[in-house]
Amino acid sequence: MAYLGFESGGTKLVVSLSYDGESIAASRKINRPHDNTAEQSLNTLLETALDLLKEHGLGRESIQAIGFGFGGSVNSDLNKPLFCLHEEGWSELGAADQIRCQFRGPVYWINDCEAAALAEASLLKHVSHIFYVTLGTGVGGAFVSNRRLFRTSAEGNSEVGHLLVDDDFYTPCPCGSSGCLEAVCSGPGLLRLAKRMFPEEGITAPEQVTTGYLAGHPQFQEVMEQYILYLAKGLASVMTLYDPEQIVLGGGLGQFVVEHFQPRLEDGIRDKCYLPFRKSVSIHAWTAEEQAVGMGAIIYAREQSGIIKLY
Ligand SMILES: [Zn+2]
Repeated sequence: MAYLGFESGGTKLVVSLSYDGESIAASRKINRPHDNTAEQSLNTLLETALDLLKEHGLGRESIQAIGFGFGGSVNSDLNKPLFCLHEEGWSELGAADQIRCQFRGPVYWINDCEAAALAEASLLKHVSHIFYVTLGTGVGGAFVSNRRLFRTSAEGNSEVGHLLVDDDFYTPCPCGSSGCLEAVCSGPGLLRLAKRMFPEEGITAPEQVTTGYLAGHPQFQEVMEQYILYLAKGLASVMTLYDPEQIVLGGGLGQFVVEHFQPRLEDGIRDKCYLPFRKSVSIHAWTAEEQAVGMGAIIYAREQSGIIKLY
């Protein structure tokens, strides 16, 4: 018996295979073309999964359950994807039926940040309350308390990316609002911020800012200073609302931030969060790293299909 984890993100599509449901035995990552449709992404995931099974001498019937870490909103009551801000067509695709046609096991849909949060919680067994934030194509979040996902709505929770942090409310966010944390602290948000601060530099990618910062260029240091101020403002609201033992930052940008700005970010959050919670501010980078979404999606699928109990 084995499990599959699917991940559909803004820049990548990943299929993970697990035998024990707790660790990833093998995974395949494919770069997602920015103009992919939902149908193209799903077909890529299915073909990749079938190749992976073949490579490991497994038949389709050996898959006991599939977890889909979806880079968008999921209706957890109806167990289906709702919409994705960077890829149209998921709601009408009938993706669950198409996956079910290929494999024996049932498929369970979970938001990718929620999946990553479950994976981190499973690895950080000594920590009871974790707030996970991913900094990537978007900014997403999930709160896990005593191994249980905090959910009050079937259509999304802990939407940290859409907290208002920017006084310039003309900064557009993919959600349709403006001034959101995602509008200035996602990868595209960092680029937007850099272009706004230094329009004459001709900056075209967020990586230019991070590499420019590492090379010591003053203008990129200034951009990162402003970025950390916005991020601290958003995470201070997270502290005030949830008082987690740890805030875990994931995604390549999240890892970069922890590596280079951890003390400064923690101080920035302490400056702004509710006074009694200041002592518990603690920022960490993701532990499961690139496997977080796949691993968490598989954990969720096992829990939903009654194979394991998380709490
Ligand atoms: Zn927004």
